[in-house]
Amino acid sequence: MNDDIPTKPDIEALVKLQEAETQIVRLNDVMIKVEKEKEKLSAKLNQFGNALEENKEHLSRATEACRDCEREIQVVDDRIIKSNEKLRMVKTNKEYNLFLREVDDNKKRKDVLETELLELLDEKEKIEKIVQESEKEFHLLKDQIEEEQKDIEKKSIDDRELLDEYIAQQNEISKTLDPSLMNRFAKISKMNNGSAVIYVEDAVCMGCFMNVPPQLYIEIQRGNSLISCPQCSRILYHINR
Ligand SMILES: [Zn+2]
Repeated sequence: MNDDIPTKPDIEALVKLQEAETQIVRLNDVMIKVEKEKEKLSAKLNQFGNALEENKEHLSRATEACRDCEREIQVVDDRIIKSNEKLRMVKTNKEYNLFLREVDDNKKRKDVLETELLELLDEKEKIEKIVQESEKEFHLLKDQIEEEQKDIEKKSIDDRELLDEYIAQQNEISKTLDPSLMNRFAKISKMNNGSAVIYVEDAVCMGCFMNVPPQLYIEIQRGNSLISCPQCSRILYHINR
C-alpha cells in the first residue's frame, strides 16, 4: 500500500499522533475503570437501601397487624358492654343464660386477641430494632461510599485533564494532515486497539512481529511513502540508529 503523499513530514506527525493515541486509549481505559468502580459502589449502596426499604415495609405490615388486632379487641369490648346492658334488663331465665353466654364467649375471644396482640407487639418491637440497625448501617455505608467516590473522582481529575490535553494535541496534529490520511489512521487504530503507527526493527513490524518482505523493508527505510504492514496494516516507519 504505497501512497504518493510526501512522507517525511507526515510520518513525524503520524508518530506524534500515535503517541497521543496511545495515551488516549490508556486514559480512556482508566476512565472506564473509574466509572465502573463508582457504579460498583453505587450498586452496593442500592442493595443496602433496598434491604432497608424491605425492613421498613415489614415494619409497616407489623404495625398494621397490631392496629387490626386492637380494633378487633375494641369491637369485642363493645359487644361485652352491650351484652352486659342486655343482661341487666333480662326478663327470663332463658334470656339471662343467653346473654351470659354471649358475655362469656366474648371475654374468651378477648383473651385470645390480647394474647395475640402481645405476640404482635413483641414481633413489631423486634422489627423496629432491625429497622433502626439497618438504618444506622445504611447511613454509615452511605457516608463511606460517598467518601470513596469523592476520592476516586479526585484521583481521576489529573487523568481527565491529561486526556483532554492529548485529545487537543491530536486535533492540532490532524489539522496538518490530509483527511484521507486521518481516516486511514483512525481505521487502523480501531483495528489494532489504538495502535496505527509502529516502527520496524531488523525488518520486523514491532506491532505484530511479522517479518516485512525485503523489498518493502527497503521502501520503509527510504521513507518516501507511507507503507502499511501486510499483516496488521499499521503504518510502518524506520528509525536509523
Ligand atoms: Zn504488523
